[in-house]
Amino acid sequence: MNLKEKTNNMLNFYGIRAKKKFGQNFLVDENIIDKTIEMSDIHSDDVIIEIGPGLGNLTEKLLDKSELVIAFEIDEDMINILEDRFKNRNNFILINKDILKVNINDILKQNNISLDSVKLIANLPYYITTPIMFKIFEESCYIKSMTIMVQKEVADRIISKPKSKDYGMLTINTEYYGEAIKLFDVPNTSFLPSPKVTSSIIKICLVKRYDAKNEEIFFKLIKASFAQRRKKLINSIENSNVLSIKKEDLKKILDKNNIPDTARAEELTIKQYINIANEIAGI
Ligand code: SAM
Repeated sequence: MNLKEKTNNMLNFYGIRAKKKFGQNFLVDENIIDKTIEMSDIHSDDVIIEIGPGLGNLTEKLLDKSELVIAFEIDEDMINILEDRFKNRNNFILINKDILKVNINDILKQNNISLDSVKLIANLPYYITTPIMFKIFEESCYIKSMTIMVQKEVADRIISKPKSKDYGMLTINTEYYGEAIKLFDVPNTSFLPSPKVTSSIIKICLVKRYDAKNEEIFFKLIKASFAQRRKKLINSIENSNVLSIKKEDLKKILDKNNIPDTARAEELTIKQYINIANEIAGI
C-alpha cells in the first residue's frame, strides 16, 4: 500500500477530512519525505521541533532518525491519531497548542532538552507561514536550522536578490537572521488534498551575520522603505509614518552612503539598510 492509500485509509478509519482552516495538505509522497529528511542533515542526537505533524507521515521518519521530536499540533483530531500511531515511541513529545501562542524556549527548558542541536523541520500550514518564520527568528535562539515546506512563491521571495521583484521585507528579515537556500520544488500532486500551488523546501541556517545597532529602527526602516515599493525610497519612508526622520536628514545619510536619492527600496542590499539604520540610530 502506498502512502497516499495509507493516508486515505487513516482519514476514513477516524472519520475525518483534511481541514482547510488549518491549512491541512498532507504529504503523501514517500520520495519527497525521504529527500527532505536526507537534506535536513539530521544526526541521531538531534532534537527536532516539528510544527503541524498532521497525521504523522513526516513525523514517523523524524522519530526514526533523531533523539527526540517535539511536535506542536493545533488540531485535536490529529492529536488522537498521532497518539495512537506513535504510542510505542518513547522519543515523542506532542503538544496540542497553537504554535503562535507558545514559547518554544520555555518548552525546551521545561523538558530539560540539551540545547546544542535543536533543528526545526516542518511542512508548514501556509496560511501562517510568515508569522511562524518571524516568531522563530525573533524568539528561538536555540534553533540551529529550519528546513521548511512553503509555497514556491514564498520560497522565491525568501531567496531573492536585490533588484528583483521578489526582493522585499521577507528576504531582508530572513537574511538578517540566517542563510537561506532552496533545496527543491515539490509538485502539488505530492499532497492530499492537492493544493493549487507548487511548493518548495527551503533550509535556513540560523546564524546571525548582521548586527544593527538598534534593531527596532532597522526593522522599521525596512517596513517603511517597502511600504510603497514602486516609489522612491525616500518618499516611501516619508509617506509611511513608520519611521520619524526628516527628509533632509535622510538625504544626507543616503548621500554619505553613496545611494542616489532616486533609489527604490528593492535596489538596496541589507548591508546598506544596516548602515542607514545605524546612522538614523545615531541622530
Ligand atoms: N506534517 C503533516 C504532513 O506533512 O503531512 C501536515 C502538514 S499540514 C500542511 C499543516 C499542519 O499544521 C496541519 O496538521 C495543521 O493542523 C497544523 N496547524 C495549522 N495551524 C497550526 C498552528 N497554529 N499551530 C500548530 N499546528 C498548526
